[in-house]
Amino acid sequence: MSKTFTGRFTQQEPIPQAGIDAALRVMQHGRLHRYNVIEGEIAETARLEEEFAAQTGAAFCLAVASGGYALTTALRACGIGHGDRVLTNAFTLAPVPGAIAAVGATPVFVGVTEDLVIDLADLERKLGQARVLLLSHMRGHICDMQALMALCDRAGVTVIEDCAHTMGADWNGTPSGRWGRFGCYSTQTYKHVNSGEGGLLISDDAEGMARAIMLSGSYMLFDRHRAAPPPETFAQIKYDTPNISGRMDNLRAAILRPQLADLPRQCGRWNVLYRTVAEGLEGAAGLTLPHRPAAEGYVASSIQFLLLDWPPAAVQQVLSRCAARGVELKWFGGAEPSGFTSRYDSWRYAQADAMPDTDRILAGIIDMRLPLSFSRDDCALIASIIRDEVEQAFAEHNVP
Ligand SMILES: *Cc1c(COP(=O)(O)O)cnc(C)c1O
Repeated sequence: MSKTFTGRFTQQEPIPQAGIDAALRVMQHGRLHRYNVIEGEIAETARLEEEFAAQTGAAFCLAVASGGYALTTALRACGIGHGDRVLTNAFTLAPVPGAIAAVGATPVFVGVTEDLVIDLADLERKLGQARVLLLSHMRGHICDMQALMALCDRAGVTVIEDCAHTMGADWNGTPSGRWGRFGCYSTQTYKHVNSGEGGLLISDDAEGMARAIMLSGSYMLFDRHRAAPPPETFAQIKYDTPNISGRMDNLRAAILRPQLADLPRQCGRWNVLYRTVAEGLEGAAGLTLPHRPAAEGYVASSIQFLLLDWPPAAVQQVLSRCAARGVELKWFGGAEPSGFTSRYDSWRYAQADAMPDTDRILAGIIDMRLPLSFSRDDCALIASIIRDEVEQAFAEHNVP
């Protein structure tokens, strides 16, 4: 009899007790708004920003309402607006082109490699088309950041990093989010820390961060921030930067602070689960695991593999047979957008040129979440189910 898995792929761990206690204190005193402080009090939100800046080594940090809001704020702070073009990954999630559309700009999509990172050759060809690259470290895969920054610096292209899947990760020891002008994070339930909704923005750029703080809805209360540039930096920009409210509140910040303190340990746990699945899939017929270079300090809260050049019916068989055995896989190559997955050509508000090399890879990408509520044994079982079904479909469909 074939084994099945009964865990839930969307089940997160509970909020740590320290976070629950801190949240209760905020609710008891009632000062949930970040600028609602009494004499001598430092708001939870301001403390969170200070701590995340220290953790990443950034000079400045701003907590906001969502990861998508962090992206639009970074774009606006870089002066991107109506009619501009912004380079971004073809392999990403809908909030990324959505952020570009939100500021009235148009995405220019850059291809993906078999290792699921941005295609630097394609990027180089397109660098002349925009002055900002919104780089998505999609599903936690980090490209050669030294090479990418050298290309962008030479072309005068500003880099904004979307680190929704790379909080806690690094390239060659430098945290993801510390390479570009801004690093943007999401603290939404499905990311590396969980406040339901929320986002963080880091930068070393004083004027850019002053603009971001004004944009987020600071009124003239920016001196209540701690991981912020000095008041002089606001002297001029405060008159010409619109308030587009998207602040974080003290309740979410209270929940997040203990989670951030525990992030390195959690990252280690994700990687144990990831390696268990990866080892279980290694060498399966017809299946390719993306290569991860030694310089990539990854945090694998999900795993991807490729069924490259498989006929769609064979891929579909793997998905449905795995689903019947309790293993929830997502297919980025599906013709119709579904759940969290969609393809660059399903975002019809953004015109895209044909990208056959990228289409071939997208058509083969299978994705699976690795929630920390799973054990190593769960992951070994999941891997054996996937391996079974992949090898069976491979044989049955005579995949070349
Ligand atoms: C989740 C996500 C975002 C946006 O985060 P929200 O907090 O949901 O707005 C941006 N980019 C990627 C790749 C994401 O997965």
